[in-house]
Amino acid sequence: MTPEEQDRVEALARSDRPLVVCDIDEVVLEFVGPFMAFLDSHGHELRTDSFRLTGNVYFKETGEASDQATVSDFLERFFGEHDTWQKPVTGALETLAGIEDSHGADIVFLTAMPPRHHARRRALLDSHGFSHPMIATEDAKGDAVNALTRHHPGKPVVFIDDLPPNHLSVLGAVPEALGLHLMAYEPLRPHLPPMPDGVKSVADWNAAAAEIADFLENCGA
Ligand SMILES: [Mg+2]
Repeated sequence: MTPEEQDRVEALARSDRPLVVCDIDEVVLEFVGPFMAFLDSHGHELRTDSFRLTGNVYFKETGEASDQATVSDFLERFFGEHDTWQKPVTGALETLAGIEDSHGADIVFLTAMPPRHHARRRALLDSHGFSHPMIATEDAKGDAVNALTRHHPGKPVVFIDDLPPNHLSVLGAVPEALGLHLMAYEPLRPHLPPMPDGVKSVADWNAAAAEIADFLENCGA
């Protein structure tokens, strides 16, 4: 993270405005579809009949399943060029801008990727108009949300993510947060492990916008 980005994140921690913490992959940027296309370009395919990567990537020519090291290597190579593959999820940009304008909320991106890919992802987000600060970390998301709320523990928090463990982590840190489950790649939804109690699943960004507006209005924002 650049010192400038670090300063923007610090400013969010000091702010008492409502905070919207937003995942990137499958929430702001499509991930599964582009990763499938990337694998295809390397003679492999991702089968989406269950929810996992390792075990579901196959060498097309032989039908052989790739081992964990191969899948990890594909993921690392994908992140190294993800800006040529990933596109924004429909409605994300307009919805985030609307929440910012109507409720005076702070918005921050929290992405579970090695920090070494931060600059490439930052540039990709900027190119699509997503100017909000971004934290790239492999630590638990609840720890990051804790750090962002430490000066004003009572401020309203909305957390949007596609994966149950991330929701569990953030609800552990901020139990009164609104958790929204959003996942762009529809065919995988039925295969996900169950969401923690209280997390609301929404079909798209339109539905997310309504839930966030309700929640923030109830918080007086
Ligand atoms: Mg995600």
